[in-house]
Amino acid sequence: MVVGTWLLARLRGLPPAGRAAVIGPMDDYPTKITFGEMRETGATRIIVFCKDYLCSHNVQMDAARWPDEMRLSDLEPRFTCTVCGKRGSVIRSVDVPPKMGTG
Ligand SMILES: [Zn+2]
Repeated sequence: MVVGTWLLARLRGLPPAGRAAVIGPMDDYPTKITFGEMRETGATRIIVFCKDYLCSHNVQMDAARWPDEMRLSDLEPRFTCTVCGKRGSVIRSVDVPPKMGTG
């Protein structure tokens, strides 16, 4: 389908500053990107959150095991929480460290 192409065009249409803002601390980083697109931003790891926010179990994983053409959103339903047993997850990349405000 054309969704991936549309998103890619949307990401590439953003200026560098706008693109940085997308992966900044606003936490609305789109998960419908592919691992390849994620790696283009410099990301190498993902963090997988339990879909149940009351549980909020999460784990970080190396993203190298998944192919470039796979979307993060494709992976989300495949995880089952090891704490509460619920199926489904929310995935974010963890490449961009939050600004900790030392300066
Ligand atoms: Zn859980």
